[in-house]
Amino acid sequence: MNAKTGETLLKGLAENLFLPTASLSYSNESTNEQYPLASQSDHTQALDAITQLLDKHPMLKTSLIAVGHRVVHGGESFSESVLIDDLVIDAIDKTSLMAPLHNPANLAGITTAQRAFPHLPHVAVFDTAFFQTLPKHAYMYGLPKRLYKEHSIRKYGFHGTSHYFVSHRAAKLLGKAIETCNLITAHLGNGCSISAIKNGKAIDTSLGFTPLEGLVMGTRSGDIDPSLPSYLIEHLNYTASDVTTMLNKASGLLGISGVSNDCRELEAQAACGDANAQLALDVFCYRLVKYIGSYMAITGPLDALVFTGGIGENSALIRNQVIKQLAHMGLALSESANNTIRFGKSGAINHPNSLPIFAIATNEEWVIAKDAYELAGASD
Ligand code: ADP
Repeated sequence: MNAKTGETLLKGLAENLFLPTASLSYSNESTNEQYPLASQSDHTQALDAITQLLDKHPMLKTSLIAVGHRVVHGGESFSESVLIDDLVIDAIDKTSLMAPLHNPANLAGITTAQRAFPHLPHVAVFDTAFFQTLPKHAYMYGLPKRLYKEHSIRKYGFHGTSHYFVSHRAAKLLGKAIETCNLITAHLGNGCSISAIKNGKAIDTSLGFTPLEGLVMGTRSGDIDPSLPSYLIEHLNYTASDVTTMLNKASGLLGISGVSNDCRELEAQAACGDANAQLALDVFCYRLVKYIGSYMAITGPLDALVFTGGIGENSALIRNQVIKQLAHMGLALSESANNTIRFGKSGAINHPNSLPIFAIATNEEWVIAKDAYELAGASD
C-alpha cells in the first residue's frame, strides 16, 4: 500500500488455514488470482507463500519501506503503535493468554516477515491501543479488584484501528478538529463493536476483556447474564469448552435465526417471511439502539453517529431499522442518502433536521500502513 495516498498496490488473503482447502488469493489492478496452499498450511507457510509471491513483483518488493503488523491484543502495554524489537515481541507473547486465537498467529506472522524482510523496520499496530484512553470507571468490571491487579482482568476493547480511522474521517466530514468531536462509532461486521468518543478520545466501547461482550454479532452472543455459563454447566451438561464454543461460534445472528450469520442472507430470508431471520435482525438492532442511547448519555452533545464495517457500510435496512427507533433522540435518516451511501462510498446519510449520521468505509490497512511509515522514519 502507498502509505501517503492509501492506494492499494497489491492485496492478498490467505484463507482456510489448518484445513485441506488452505488457499491464497491476491489481486492488483491487472491480476486476480487464487491458488491452493499446501494442505493444512499454517500462518508461517502462508506468509512464506506471500513472500514468494512478492518475488513476482520485483518493483514493488524493492520499493517496500516498512512492514506493518496488525496485533489483536496489546494489553495495557501499548497505547500506540510501536517499532517491533525483542521487548515488544516478549510483551505480545505475554498477552497471548488473553487472545489465544490471535496473538500467537500475529507473532508467527511477525517472525516470518522479519525473516523474509530482515532489512525493513517492522511495526505493530494494536487493536486495543485506541481504547487505552478509557477512564478507569469505564474499564473496571464490578469484580474483586485483585482480579484486575493480579490478572489484568478489565475491559480492553477491540477493532480500535477501525474506530480510530472512522472517527478521524467523521471529524473531517464535520470540518472540525478531532479533539473537539463527540462521536459514537459503530463497527458492524461479523464482529461488532460500538465506541463512545469524547473530545476525540475513546471513553467507552462494547467489546471487553475478550471480543465477546457487547453487541449481538454474526456468531457471538454479546452481553448475556453472567450466571448463564455456570447454569449451562451445572444443569445442562455443558463443559466449559462447550460454553465457550457456543457463545463464540453458535450464537448471535446465527444462533437466533438458525439460518445464517450473514446479514445479507438474513435480510433475504426475512423478506421471504422467515420469522426467525426477522427475529435475529430485530434483536441485533434492538441491542444496538440500547448501546447508542447509553453512549449518547456519556459523550455529551453528540457531533455525529458513524456506521462502518460490512453491515454498517452496506445495509440500508439495518441503518433504517436502528435510526427509526432513535427519532426521539434527534436522529433521522435521509431515505435517498441511506440508499445511496453504500458499497465503498462514504458520506452523510442523515435527514437535514437530524444530528449528523455518517456511513464511512473503514480502512484499517491504511492506518497500519501510515503508522508503519511514520515509525519507520520515512514521513517528511
Ligand atoms: P469481518 O468482520 O469479517 O471483516 P465484514 O466487515 O466484511 O466482516 O462484514 C461482514 C458482514 O457484512 C456480513 O454479515 C455481511 O452479510 C454483511 N454485509 C456485507 N454487505 C452487505 C449488504 N449489502 N447488505 C447487508 N449486509 C451486508
